[in-house]
Amino acid sequence: MNKQVGTLKTSDFYCDFVFSGKVKVKKVKETENLLAFHHTKSGYEFHIVIVPKEHIANLTDLKDMDLVKEVFEIAKEIVIKEGFDKTNYKIITNGGNFQDSKHLHFHLVSGGKNE
Ligand SMILES: [Zn+2]
Repeated sequence: MNKQVGTLKTSDFYCDFVFSGKVKVKKVKETENLLAFHHTKSGYEFHIVIVPKEHIANLTDLKDMDLVKEVFEIAKEIVIKEGFDKTNYKIITNGGNFQDSKHLHFHLVSGGKNE
């Protein structure tokens, strides 16, 4: 599924818009391998995505599982910082036809759903 961004369509929002700098994002955390930022079309009260800087299409293409460890380290840090351990949170990665942007990413969400 292609995502509509302005007048352009992309199947890889992260490479085409975020890492290329075409879209400015609100960064939460950046490491050598990963970027965490506020989702540009937030689906929840709190909604960030944690994205590998390297292009990896999806979970089944991921070879370096240490990256998952890093993702969860960042997620843990944010959960503690925001106090979501006392309210609620979930971490999601989509695949197959659930996955809009064909670049591996993890959602960390908390609170109610935005309409
Ligand atoms: Zn990509």
